[in-house]
Amino acid sequence: MEQSNTEEGNGVVDGNVDLPVKKAINFYPPLYRQRYNFVKDLVNKHKPKKVADLGCGNASLIQMIKSHSCLELIVGVDINEDKIGSKRCNLSPVSGDYLSPRDLNLSIVLYHGSVVERDCRLLGFDLVACIELIEHLDSEDLARFPEVVFGYLCPAMIVISTPNSDFNPLFPIVTLRDSDHKFEWNRKQFQTWALDVANCYGYSVEFTGVGEPPEDAGNVGYCTQIGVFQRIGAPATKSCGAEQCGEHIYKIAYSVSYPSLQQKQVRKLMLTNEVSRQVQNMRWSYALGLSLLQNGKENGQKTRDPGLLTFPAPVFTELEKLKIEQSPKPFCFGNKFYVPLERLLAYPRVSRLCDSVDTMRALIADTVPLNTDGSAVTVDLRDHSQ
Ligand code: SAM
Repeated sequence: MEQSNTEEGNGVVDGNVDLPVKKAINFYPPLYRQRYNFVKDLVNKHKPKKVADLGCGNASLIQMIKSHSCLELIVGVDINEDKIGSKRCNLSPVSGDYLSPRDLNLSIVLYHGSVVERDCRLLGFDLVACIELIEHLDSEDLARFPEVVFGYLCPAMIVISTPNSDFNPLFPIVTLRDSDHKFEWNRKQFQTWALDVANCYGYSVEFTGVGEPPEDAGNVGYCTQIGVFQRIGAPATKSCGAEQCGEHIYKIAYSVSYPSLQQKQVRKLMLTNEVSRQVQNMRWSYALGLSLLQNGKENGQKTRDPGLLTFPAPVFTELEKLKIEQSPKPFCFGNKFYVPLERLLAYPRVSRLCDSVDTMRALIADTVPLNTDGSAVTVDLRDHSQ
């Protein structure tokens, strides 16, 4: 209900009175998306590992931020169990997440519960988002909210958004924007509350917003007002210490873990695939080089050393090229083609998956054929299935 109407338009007739009608302002991107983008930008800037979305609704914000590589745990909490469930399938990993796993683990957990209840699984977060939440709390819950979120959870950063009622006269009907809103604050009311809370719990706060008013609207502020709170110093031990742990009040509504290179089986599979791919490339380059050498000899031309040919040509930086060239070269002995593990480790896509020859050997030994001392991958040149 935040498509505000402004600009006087054609009148409508109500009895004998012409009532002015205001034309709609279309926020672009839509206002809810501007709010999500605001949080997304905070994630981009501050690189939190653990983010909680309190009053997460259908978890659209979580879906939007989950691709950030810094995130290791995202938690959503909502009092409305039906809402939490409604789009949870959008949070599951898709085939691309398995084909190209993340570097770091990521878990997403949705809890059914109230933000004014303490649950120790929400301790120690870097960022807590409360987007369009506080105006849904009755006066009793609103009074408990700062003590739980700021005092008990005490995350490093909290972002709170809420409607700005200074903007409301631009709407055609001046009333609450949603039937479930318990209040809507103007900028002064929100800022007074936020500064009090910040002072009480050791946070700084900055005010901003999203949803620019029309140019001729005067000083009404943003349609959605936002406070960004940053904890000053380390969390107070009284609130975040281990002695507070043990309270599991919320009910898990949904939980999922993403494949990542931190998981041994995932790393092993990725490394096996990458090593096999690189070995096949080198084998075909070698075969191609040999045939070029042969043809060159027949035609009396000078040809390149087959060991230096690459197929297909990958793009390397100068440093990567140097590292590859300085590593032991693949070689042939009888019908066997050998690729030293050190050579493979020089390739960036392999070294991303393991940091030493020993680790590589341990991970691929039972899936890729190695020579007797385990220093090289072997391929039988007569076996065209490999
Ligand atoms: N943050 C979401 C967004 O921006 O799309 C949803 C906002 S919706 C306007 C407000 C949400 O707060 C609802 O999903 C509602 O169920 C939830 N909510 C209200 N009171 C709550 C409480 N005490 N604890 C947890 N969630 C609550």
